[in-house]
Amino acid sequence: MAEHHQICIIGSGPAGFTAALYASRARLNVVVFEGHQPGGQLTITTEVENYPGFEHGIMGPEMMDVFRKQAHRFGATSIYESVVSVDLSKRPFTLKTDRNKEFTADSVIISTGAAAKLLGAKGEQEYMGYGVSACATCDGFFFKNQHVYVVGGGDTAMEEANYLTRFASKVTIIHRREEFRASKIMLERAKKNEKIEFVLNTTIDEYLGEILESGAKKLHSLRILNTKNNETSVVPADGVFVAIGHKPNTDLFKDVLIMDETGYIQTIGKTSYTNIDGVFACGDAQDSVYRQAITAAGSGCMAAIDAERWLELQH
Ligand code: NDP
Repeated sequence: MAEHHQICIIGSGPAGFTAALYASRARLNVVVFEGHQPGGQLTITTEVENYPGFEHGIMGPEMMDVFRKQAHRFGATSIYESVVSVDLSKRPFTLKTDRNKEFTADSVIISTGAAAKLLGAKGEQEYMGYGVSACATCDGFFFKNQHVYVVGGGDTAMEEANYLTRFASKVTIIHRREEFRASKIMLERAKKNEKIEFVLNTTIDEYLGEILESGAKKLHSLRILNTKNNETSVVPADGVFVAIGHKPNTDLFKDVLIMDETGYIQTIGKTSYTNIDGVFACGDAQDSVYRQAITAAGSGCMAAIDAERWLELQH
């Protein structure tokens, strides 16, 4: 028989564990499906300095371990499996995992997060966290007085480039064509910024770096490709911020939950309610704007409170 829980939480980032903390403290029977990346996106970052309460910062993986332990302390449990299918058409809801186990739930909280889109160029994975990043808010601070590149021509790229000028000595926006998706105002702001320069019709072919004496890796340059004349060249670079968009991890709920065109789950008003009664969404799976650990955690708290109150009404 399928194992039953009052609340099944899918996803184990700050949103999922905050929901688990609140739900377990409300004495609800709650389980977190940790998925293929237990702890979520923060486990692939290095130091987190902007989460309030950690005066001296904390490493991303360590922070998620604290989140997990805090939720477990009040009775939430973790299942280290990925949910591969859901049936939200009738209650109790049914979830199946990659180990072919079945679970049922009175209520489901979706906190599956999002993933930054990457270029897939050679060396990208190798230098991720060692010069290559997908989050200026998280890592910009580490590039004081350095020359960094921002890849992309949308609002995120413009915003990240502007933000990075607080730290970097020079920011080069590298974009694959001449037209921009970015809104006029954001583009103008970037163009007016003296620290920002544009390299157009160009993509990154390869990330190049070295292994330091300490054993750490460090990016030092890029092989770039001019898409007009197909010429390549090598340019020095201290850092690269890939800002070509995010993809929410919501394929599981396609055609079931209402989403925007990118796949972000639409929640109702200022709540975590989705279009299905008893199914709530929080964190980056429903947030294309803020995408911060602290906002994800806040929305996880909202989802747990919404689920708790909704469950109360079912009696
Ligand atoms: P967008 O989809 O708007 O832009 C992505 C950019 O990345 C495009 O310029 C695209 O190029 C480029 N790109 C995509 N794939 C590749 C690739 N493989 N190689 C090279 N370049 C690539 O995403 P954003 O994240 O910028 O924005 C998402 C949404 O969030 C938008 O609606 C935006 O307005 C909004 N937003 C709003 C902000 C604000 O108002 N403050 C801030 C940030 C985002 P191409 O144009 O050639 O396809």
